[in-house]
Parts: sequence; C-alpha cells; structure tokens
Amino acid sequence: MVEHSSSFLEPEELAHNIEQVRNRIAEAAQKANRPLEEITLIAVSKTKPVELVQLAFQQGLTHFGENRVQEALPKIATFHPEGIHWHMIGHLQSNKAGKVVEAFDMLQSVDSLHLAQVLERLAASREKHLPILLEINIAGEASKAGMRPEESLSVAREIAAYPHLDIQGVMTVAPLVTNPEEVRPVFRALRELRDRLRDAVPQHSWHHLSMGMTDDYQVAIEEGATMVRIGRAIFGARPSR
Ligand SMILES: *Cc1c(COP(=O)(O)O)cnc(C)c1O
Repeated sequence: MVEHSSSFLEPEELAHNIEQVRNRIAEAAQKANRPLEEITLIAVSKTKPVELVQLAFQQGLTHFGENRVQEALPKIATFHPEGIHWHMIGHLQSNKAGKVVEAFDMLQSVDSLHLAQVLERLAASREKHLPILLEINIAGEASKAGMRPEESLSVAREIAAYPHLDIQGVMTVAPLVTNPEEVRPVFRALRELRDRLRDAVPQHSWHHLSMGMTDDYQVAIEEGATMVRIGRAIFGARPSR
C-alpha cells in the first residue's frame, strides 16, 4: 500500500470501507447475540482532512474521534452540523482542557484525578455537563496513557461527587498484537473492571465500554464494546509521524 495515497481516498473507496466496517460490526454483534443498536461506531479522523469527515457524515456516520486538540479544533469549527458528535480520544494536557470542554461532546481520555478536577472547574464555570469516560491502562503498558486499574476505583469515587462530570463508562487502548485473539483478555478485563466500578459508584451510568480499533474491533464487540474507535479501516492508512 502506498502511504501518501491515503489522504486522497476517493468517495467510492470511503463508501466501500464504511460498508465493510458496518458489515463486520453487524457480524460480530450477531455472533455475540447483541443488538446492533448497542454499538456506536466512532470514525477516528485524526491526520485526515475535514473533507473526509464531511463525506463520511454524508454517508451516515455521526461520531468522530480526534486525539490532538490543535488538530481537532479547526476541524470542529469548520464542521459541526446538527447531529454530529466529536469525541476527544487522546491524552489531554490540562492547560488545553478549556477548549476541549467547549468543542467536544465527549471526553474519552480522562486519565487522572488532576485532569478531572480541572475539567470539573471548567465545566462548572460554563454551566455545562460533560460526558466523560475514564481511560484505563488495562495491560499496564509503560508507553500508554490511562490510569492503573488499581487506582481507578478511588479516582472514580472522587469524581463521582463532581456535579458537572457525567461518568458514562471506561475506555482503553489495547496493546498492539498480530492476532486479535491475544487482546481478548484485555477487553474482558476492562468489562469486569467496569462492572466493579458500576457496583461501587452507582450514581453514574458506566454504560459505555469504548474498546476495539481497526485490528481488533470484532473481538472487542464480542467482549461487550459499546463504542468501537476505527480509523484506518475507514479512512485508510495514516502517514507515519
Ligand atoms: C488512532 C486511534 C484509534 C484508531 O486506530 P485505528 O487502528 O486506525 O483504527 C482509536 N483509538 C485511539 C485512542 C487512537 O488514538
């Protein structure tokens, strides 16, 4: 595959990719005996031009994920029609949190109590309720963001008392593996952790399990994912940074 061709994805190719991903999501849902409506496809548009987001929206995708604030803000400003949902999925520095609270519809990457404190203050001053997910580093990889599973309970108990943050679930980025079956235990562990958090902090819904990307989303759906975050399978390969 030629890397540079990715930014010039043709509309027909995008349509084909979207259809293929939808079919594979349906296949996995059926295999797991789960209703399809329970699974939200988040198209990860990082590094891709806003024109591709517009094309994808025309083809019925309504949830988009971005991982860098500076890159995302102009895209969101350019394209925010009724019915679109923008998800922040990358590590967030607290000095950029104000803009995120304003621009994004959900913040999936809350990875520390400190960040949550900052977000609560910002959301309160704007009189906003911010849907968030706690990002958990389930596999304990040193290179990955996310809080440790062991600390998530005490963090969740603290955040539960913040009136402007709405904890809707958890998110993880699974390790890179060659066979997606290898990360099944990671997805299962996130679901089990979510269940424990929900029991311990019942004031919040904990509905969402955001897990699964291009290489492993079918396995993630079999393990209960309610949100899959898919970039390359929809928009094509990304240039290596
Ligand atoms: C880039 C990214 C994705 C999408 O990855 P693909 O392998 O392209 O599907 C999902 N989640 C996060 C947090 C990402 O940064």
